[in-house]
Amino acid sequence: MTISPTVPITDDHIHIDPANGRGLEAAKDFRRAGGTHLFLVSKPSWSFGVTPKMGEDFIPVFEGTLSIAREIRELGIVVFPVLGVHPAEITRLAGLMDLALAERVMIEGLDAAAGYVARGDAVALKSGRPHYEVPAEVLEASNRILRHSLNLAQEHSCAVQLHAEGGPCADVVEMAREAGLSREQVVKHFATPDTPLVPSLIARHEAIPALGKAGRPFMMESDYMDENSRPGSVIGPRSVPRFTRRLLETGELSEEAAYRIHVEVPSRTYGVEILLA
Ligand SMILES: [Zn+2]
Repeated sequence: MTISPTVPITDDHIHIDPANGRGLEAAKDFRRAGGTHLFLVSKPSWSFGVTPKMGEDFIPVFEGTLSIAREIRELGIVVFPVLGVHPAEITRLAGLMDLALAERVMIEGLDAAAGYVARGDAVALKSGRPHYEVPAEVLEASNRILRHSLNLAQEHSCAVQLHAEGGPCADVVEMAREAGLSREQVVKHFATPDTPLVPSLIARHEAIPALGKAGRPFMMESDYMDENSRPGSVIGPRSVPRFTRRLLETGELSEEAAYRIHVEVPSRTYGVEILLA
């Protein structure tokens, strides 16, 4: 049974991958559970069988993501594409070429992603730095790439979603300030509540009721990866609507807080309009 939504339900970070996962069936699950809006984040180049040797090689990755976005829209879901370069690409690329070239390829990939934002085909950039231990020079290169994404976001007045190490990432506040970008346009994906950036919390996060009550601005995400080889590696595509509904039913989340999470914060952060059709 499809639950007809009375309020928008927004997943701030989800992947739909028809080649390696369930594709549109996963998007239908999201909609049936009451989901209405999603931020579709581009997957790493290897998910598309691409090995980038220059920035342009990311174009098929972005085009592929936009073509999935169009198919999902036909299901009646509002889709906001988020394009960029996954920070873990540095490890793969640095194994194939020298680190300076890997850094350049990723920077050019972000430039290409920003072109889609400029043309209105994407709403935000995705960047970050490895969430795992890396050699110092790899971390330095990653931080330069991250700074580049903040500069691009400032230039194009868009938000950036960061995929980074666990914890607050407090140093990124200063990096954003140097780029002239408000920290309110820097979203920490898979966040913990201690971050000074805009937290995007996994839907089952235990702090959601308390943060909702406190009026804290944050969003909710499934981080569903849509990969058949990794079922259950994260929670499923229905998780944001399901957890939201459950918390509303038990009274742990007020309607006002749900509206803030699913409408106000994403609208303000990404400069998009979130309305029920
Ligand atoms: Zn993800």
